[in-house]
Amino acid sequence: MPAHDSRDYEFAKAFDLPVRRVIEGVEEELARDGEGLPYPGDGAMVASGRFDGKGNREAYAEIVEWLAAEGRGEPSVNYRLRDWLVSRQRYWGAPIPIVYCEKCGTVPVPDDLLPVELPEIDDYAPKGKSPLAAAEDWVATECPGCGGPARRETDTMDTFVDSSWYFIRYLDPRGEQRPWDRAAADHWLPVDQYIGGVEHAILHLMYARFVTKALADLGELEVQEPFANLFAQGMITRDGAKMSKSRGTLWRRPSTSSATAPTLPAPMSASWARPSAGETGPTRASRASGAFWRAFGGSARRSRRGRAASVRRPGPRRSPRSGT
Ligand SMILES: [Zn+2]
Repeated sequence: MPAHDSRDYEFAKAFDLPVRRVIEGVEEELARDGEGLPYPGDGAMVASGRFDGKGNREAYAEIVEWLAAEGRGEPSVNYRLRDWLVSRQRYWGAPIPIVYCEKCGTVPVPDDLLPVELPEIDDYAPKGKSPLAAAEDWVATECPGCGGPARRETDTMDTFVDSSWYFIRYLDPRGEQRPWDRAAADHWLPVDQYIGGVEHAILHLMYARFVTKALADLGELEVQEPFANLFAQGMITRDGAKMSKSRGTLWRRPSTSSATAPTLPAPMSASWARPSAGETGPTRASRASGAFWRAFGGSARRSRRGRAASVRRPGPRRSPRSGT
């Protein structure tokens, strides 16, 4: 739809492809070419044969029906949850605990040999196959089934897999026998307030929610939702938030564009220090996180103590108000 999607439009322009308007409408505030394209809004359809004059949204179902009748298409829903998390040709990530034996086939590494740890290697660059595949000493192993020669899986799971459940592990980080302590998970989850960059608001959130729901369906967790509230810090507007120390203003309640802002102790006395000459990134980051910790540490401890002393909340859990 080159006339009605900005990426398709740019592609069509770059390759000199025809751009045909099929929806009428104008959108003043955005930059357009002489014909007012691309136009991503709604409107009456034009140059569309039997669908002319119909609203584009109203015509969706009819268009799909017509395509199906013509044998040229069928309705489908696309989700953007990708399966590439599970098998990547990269060194970093979690090893997949599987070995391949000529006699036994695909054999899961038994519990007492877990975790499978990555080998030390010199060259991490992918070369069309996993860099692990070059670590022959590591790849060649013994079949846990028959004791014969076997080879390890050399793909890894993306680090998204870890970040989809690490918050559960944090509740019992020293447990040796289980990935998490069920009682602790049932007591503490969902996470009350999750703070992350805007990159956490889309894929990571989808994966973490998916994994949590799957674990709940498997009976391994009580909650269906991992996070009660997400605050995407990427939405803080610098000027609006008046974060500058040099102007004598303290960091107060951030100005955000959505309702996802948490209830913060405000005004708070932490300021995000302005970088000064000679200060390295890590120093700045450390100072900023120190200020953050001091500002939030007290209230976090108070709320945790209060909650630990209270009976676990009954009834349905809150659902996240976060946007994706
Ligand atoms: Zn075997």
